[in-house]
Amino acid sequence: MSDTKDYKKELMDAAHNERISLALSRAITSYRNNVDNALKKFPHTIKLAEEVREIKSRALDDMENLAKIACEAIESNKGKAYIARTGEEAVKIVSDLVGKNKLIVKGKSMTAHEIELQEHLEAMGNEVYETDLGEFIVQKLHSKPMHVLSPAIHVPKEDVAKLLSELTGKELPPTDIEKMVATARELLRDKFIKADVGISGANVVAAETGTLFLIENEGNIRLATTLPPIHIAVVGMDKLVPTLMDAFKVSEVAWRYANYTVPSYVSLTSGPSKTGDIEKTITYGAHGPKEFHVIFLDNRRTELAKHPILRQAMLCLGCGGCLYECPVFAKTAGTFGNKRFTGNGAVWSAISRDIERSAAIAYTCLTCGRCKVRCPMQIDSASMCIELRKLVAEGKEDILT
Ligand code: SF4
Ligand code: SF4
Repeated sequence: MSDTKDYKKELMDAAHNERISLALSRAITSYRNNVDNALKKFPHTIKLAEEVREIKSRALDDMENLAKIACEAIESNKGKAYIARTGEEAVKIVSDLVGKNKLIVKGKSMTAHEIELQEHLEAMGNEVYETDLGEFIVQKLHSKPMHVLSPAIHVPKEDVAKLLSELTGKELPPTDIEKMVATARELLRDKFIKADVGISGANVVAAETGTLFLIENEGNIRLATTLPPIHIAVVGMDKLVPTLMDAFKVSEVAWRYANYTVPSYVSLTSGPSKTGDIEKTITYGAHGPKEFHVIFLDNRRTELAKHPILRQAMLCLGCGGCLYECPVFAKTAGTFGNKRFTGNGAVWSAISRDIERSAAIAYTCLTCGRCKVRCPMQIDSASMCIELRKLVAEGKEDILT
């Protein structure tokens, strides 16, 4: 079956899956209420979003320079920084650092998905655990994430109970969600403690200090990036902004539109753990990781930044707001897209030279523009999909050349 036929079948299956429609219709109502409340409580966020769009847009024009500044800052903090031009390069750097037969705990990362990092590390004989609960469920069910913030939105509690019962050998009732969460906590706690390496992405990076901002609610990212002796972060260059203050602004807008007045945790990491408490001798690897590695991934982002319409895809904060407004997503969830969802997925498929998938996604989009209305960055998926259709119709094999 061709990729387009597979895609069409996935879309149709999802559209006929009542669990998806039901789960999303509930999520849409609660998302809209929560964001409206969060914006009422913190009305400055709307103006701040305009400022963040400017900050991010200028940063895209200066990505190369910001990556160099961030690398210098991280090295001066005694971390190691790398710029990977391709996904393959990034995978090689991580593979060389990790080696074989290691236990790895991972926080949710779109960039890691982009380069299929988990699959590569597993193929080398490593054991990789997704630690975000939704990602963990999806990983263990061999399913795919259906939502940027709620990857397991399509999995009912009965299936989660069955999965956890199988994994632990203890029968879990399908009604007791609290017990399911506690079971997953117990199961993963052991992995956090024994892990050789923790892998994360970052929501935004302040170039001037080399500081990664990691926003979350579960606490798994905090554990994955502090308990193992090595922390490796793989971050798209589009996540760079010049200053710490810029990064705080980006973070606040991202979490507010992700429907939180404030998230439970925002971790700022700029280097390896250290102490000078014994005779003022700086020693690395106190309670946190001894090694801190950051790989900035280009993977054609610097080329994409030059495209006047498609570059918008890199302004995305990953808040997920657009997904709750998109009429196609409401019926098909994460099948509308590729590794990234809705119209943005079409752009990311195109830059990875998967023109067939990109065209299929671009033609799935209704170009209704509802996503733009909700998007704090005013990303116009409709215009990106129309542009992609045009490039495909012109017979372009590679949209950026
Ligand atoms: S323009 Fe496309 S991606 Fe945006 S809401 Fe409409 S169908 Fe969804
Ligand atoms: S496109 Fe906009 S609304 Fe959608 S996830 Fe990105 S920033 Fe949020």
